[in-house]
Amino acid sequence: MAGRNFLFVPGPTNIPDRIIRAMAVPSEDHRSPIFGQLTLPLFEQVKEVFRTKAGQAFLFPATGTGGWEAALSNTLSPGDKVVCSRYGQFSHLWIDLAQRLGLDVVVLEEEWGTGTHAEHIEKLLVEDKAHKIKGIMVVQNETATGVTSDVASVRKVLDQAKHPALLYVDGVSSIGSIDFRMDEWGVDVAVAGSQKGFMMPAGMAIVCASQKALEAGKTAKLPRIFFDFGDQAKANATGYFPYTPSLPLLYGLKESLAIIFEEGLDNIYQRHHYLASGVRAAVAAWGLKLCAKAPRWYSDTVSTIVTPEGISGADVISRAYQRYNLSLGAGLSQVAGKVFRIGHLGDLNELMVLGALSGTEMAMRDVGIKIEPGSGVAAAAEHFRGSNSAK
Ligand SMILES: *Cc1c(COP(=O)(O)O)cnc(C)c1O
Repeated sequence: MAGRNFLFVPGPTNIPDRIIRAMAVPSEDHRSPIFGQLTLPLFEQVKEVFRTKAGQAFLFPATGTGGWEAALSNTLSPGDKVVCSRYGQFSHLWIDLAQRLGLDVVVLEEEWGTGTHAEHIEKLLVEDKAHKIKGIMVVQNETATGVTSDVASVRKVLDQAKHPALLYVDGVSSIGSIDFRMDEWGVDVAVAGSQKGFMMPAGMAIVCASQKALEAGKTAKLPRIFFDFGDQAKANATGYFPYTPSLPLLYGLKESLAIIFEEGLDNIYQRHHYLASGVRAAVAAWGLKLCAKAPRWYSDTVSTIVTPEGISGADVISRAYQRYNLSLGAGLSQVAGKVFRIGHLGDLNELMVLGALSGTEMAMRDVGIKIEPGSGVAAAAEHFRGSNSAK
């Protein structure tokens, strides 16, 4: 098919040409005397994206899932009690991982389309006088349902209850795209992956740990080998790794960080909000509903759109791909078939979003969804004309 595929899944995201070029490198000795010149600045710059000065950054050859495992296995012991709210496929998978590591997970079931309710966590913290709860896990942006949760509100209830539990945040589809402040929100371990806001191929888990988390690691007894923070920290101190790092991904990260700082984090958050608002204007004009139940949950990186009764989201996705070379995100688990997703994160601008909305509109009409032709595109275009992006 001529022309580019329109990649509008919420990860992996479009890779800027600059990053693709930066990754085309020959292999070099990862123990050379000058290797640290490449790697040492990366650890510092990654911390800026997480907005942490006090924390420590780790770069693992892995994906977000590996980051989840690193976060928990480095800081907890078998049988430790942790709390996690479940409201989509990603929170579900992180809970599953925690259970399989041997943790005692208290699961708070929340309606899909909502997120972490700090008041539900608060109740558990207040009752837990003996401080049996060792960690609270929050998926900041639930990519399955297009829901963003308020991490600061969780820090607030931890502080009010004077509870020492560690705060774990999955920021895989939010860090670098949606406001995230590790130090200010007192996050102890935060997890990101290379293929979302960092605009790279999958293959690198990017994790930051607070000093409190590193301290907890000294007595934590869950086994970890490949993901051991201690082994990493020792080698990373001089710019090396305990095993062979992926050189192309390190060069890709260097370029990704350059691109991120050229635009500026605040401008990036604003651009994501502005593009997402255009998508939401289109959904409203189509007369369709988001899976997210209320504006407080709206995600600026992914919109999960509910298809009308009797029409499968999978048909929209299949038609969009086969006829218009447009990749939309599938409905996962509980919402499979009932929704489709438009990912709008990473290296995107207005016209790219309008192209995706146009393809979505055509595919929806092709499978029998009764929407006014051009209505969503027009609503988004007028939104974009009427407001300025960051710059
Ligand atoms: C993509 C994603 C993950 C999993 O990442 P992988 O890189 O596929 O392992 C975890 N959490 C969230 C919120 C995600 O969006």
